[in-house]
Amino acid sequence: MRHKVIAGNWKMHKNAAETTTFLNDLVNNMPNGKEVEVMVAPPFTNLMLATQILEDTNITVAAQNMHQAEGGAFTGEISADMLTSVGVQTVILGHSERRQYFKETPSLLANKVDTALRHKMRVIFCVGEELKDRKSKQFQNVVFYQLKDSLFHLPKEAWENIIIAYEPVWAIGTGETATPEQAQEMHQFIREQIAHHYGSLANNVTILYGGSVKPDNAQTIFSQPDVDGGLIGGAALNTADFTAIIEAM
Ligand code: 13P
Repeated sequence: MRHKVIAGNWKMHKNAAETTTFLNDLVNNMPNGKEVEVMVAPPFTNLMLATQILEDTNITVAAQNMHQAEGGAFTGEISADMLTSVGVQTVILGHSERRQYFKETPSLLANKVDTALRHKMRVIFCVGEELKDRKSKQFQNVVFYQLKDSLFHLPKEAWENIIIAYEPVWAIGTGETATPEQAQEMHQFIREQIAHHYGSLANNVTILYGGSVKPDNAQTIFSQPDVDGGLIGGAALNTADFTAIIEAM
């Protein structure tokens, strides 16, 4: 169901002690009265700790990645069952860092999405163009194929558990955000493509923006009609910035 979400993607940051400190601080400083799902995505080693600390709160926990197989000889990997067994019901898939540094392909990501959904998990599926695609005006085309190749095989019912995150690669960790107009243009385009394939359910899909969201630019981005929240990297690592971004929603 479409709703507001502010999710913090911690990437490879925070050990166990730092996770405990951060989450206790977050719980104590959570803005009141906001109709927004607040989510954190710590590294694998801190997921169980996070679900325990957040057990009696409304803050949800996501994993940053997952393997597509049910289990087996895949040294270093983590399965859907392992995640749900520690109370993690949401997984981020297709992040540009996974695509770029770990060579995750559209068909692999389609497999991962299928596995997550089979385990009744929610997927935050990331799409986004590189700078060269924006310069050559191919940005919509690139995002269209990212959606089509990994998601458009899904049956309609599956979309209840899909959240899209639009993260232009050129805006991630660079301090350069998409303008509110650029974000809205792409979010609207994404919703239109989903509508084209699936009809009116597109209006129920949550679409997040990610890429250098900070307390001082969050509000103008979140005020766009097709932007339902944010997937936050750097600014999700300290509670002052993260809670300020939640306030801006
Ligand atoms: P930054 O907010 O650090 O640009 O990271 C965005 C991101 O990649 C979230 O997944």
